[in-house]
Amino acid sequence: MLENGSKNISVLGSTGSIGRQTLEVCEKLGIRVSALAARSSVKLLEAQARRFSPSLVSVFDEKAAADLRVRLADTDIRVASGEGGLTEAAVLPEADTAVTAVVGTVGLKPTLAAIKAKKRIALANKETLVCAGSLVMAEARANGAEILPVDSEHSAIFQCIGAARRHVKRILLTASGGPFFGKSREELRSVTPEMALKHPNWSMGPKVTVDSATMMNKGLEIIEAMHLFSVPPEAIRVLVHRQSIVHSMVEFADNAVIAQLAPPDMRLPIQYALTYPERAESLCPEADFSSMPPLTFADPDLESFPCLRLAMETAKRPGTACAVMNAANEAAVGLFLRGRIGFYGIYESVAGALDRIENTASPTPEDILAADAAAREYVSRA
Ligand code: MG
Repeated sequence: MLENGSKNISVLGSTGSIGRQTLEVCEKLGIRVSALAARSSVKLLEAQARRFSPSLVSVFDEKAAADLRVRLADTDIRVASGEGGLTEAAVLPEADTAVTAVVGTVGLKPTLAAIKAKKRIALANKETLVCAGSLVMAEARANGAEILPVDSEHSAIFQCIGAARRHVKRILLTASGGPFFGKSREELRSVTPEMALKHPNWSMGPKVTVDSATMMNKGLEIIEAMHLFSVPPEAIRVLVHRQSIVHSMVEFADNAVIAQLAPPDMRLPIQYALTYPERAESLCPEADFSSMPPLTFADPDLESFPCLRLAMETAKRPGTACAVMNAANEAAVGLFLRGRIGFYGIYESVAGALDRIENTASPTPEDILAADAAAREYVSRA
């Protein structure tokens, strides 16, 4: 075990893609897992609980929690439920770190609670910073809680910045371009959820995979980076890099550029958030430079991917606009996956919500959740 890294963690969203890989990393590094939380995947949660013997398991769905209590009756693992259970997992006293890998706005409250409990946050829930970045970063500073990014790009930026944060000129945020790179607006009009769910480089949950297809994911990541690294949106440039080997770069005052490279494998950024400031052997394979494809970089196509343009504009608006955009997008992606709207229906829903819903400056957490609810309501009615 590393002296300065995480020793005991809570995993919020343990049954999703990031959560499962976090547990692999913990097994490899000998990190204790004290709490597991998920929405409803009882079977997998039971298997994880038997393997890691946490003291607390939380299931968001009440019915699923009742089922899990029966399944784990022969153990002394406590089963909690609902929003309260998720927060309990986030602030569990014995854990020094909370890995926040739940998807969506549901991550906001437990993340704030973990910050107030002075936990190290390994942040994999980008929606938290997108909808409440200023507030969350202010709380983190006030409580001395470290927020370490798990998103591969932000982990890369964090690793590149090192001790030279004052001298950052620009962040070069790389994007794979998703499954629809190079396609025209005309070609994209009729794409199906099945086509959107086939990502060339990364295997991720359905929501983030669709976000990657619309490139809204890169827009959310611009906002995430703004807050994590205190840079204005103008100082973040998106570069399409199809190979997903350069995970992002930082340009400094003297025009030197530092990049972080590795094969696309989320276990590396997850592990770095847990071992920081140290490093350890990992499950990520080595980069093989002589057999690597040529590394290419290009500007994104904002005509075919208007969600990215919309997010770039929204990033410049303080207040609740980013929360509205995030929630409208989450709701619209749900409709797209259920075949209720087309691919560009996602953009139209989000743009409509931003037009219709008023922006509140300097919002409280309640204002943010109200904006979130109003955006979902707008999208479900439109
Ligand atoms: Mg990412």
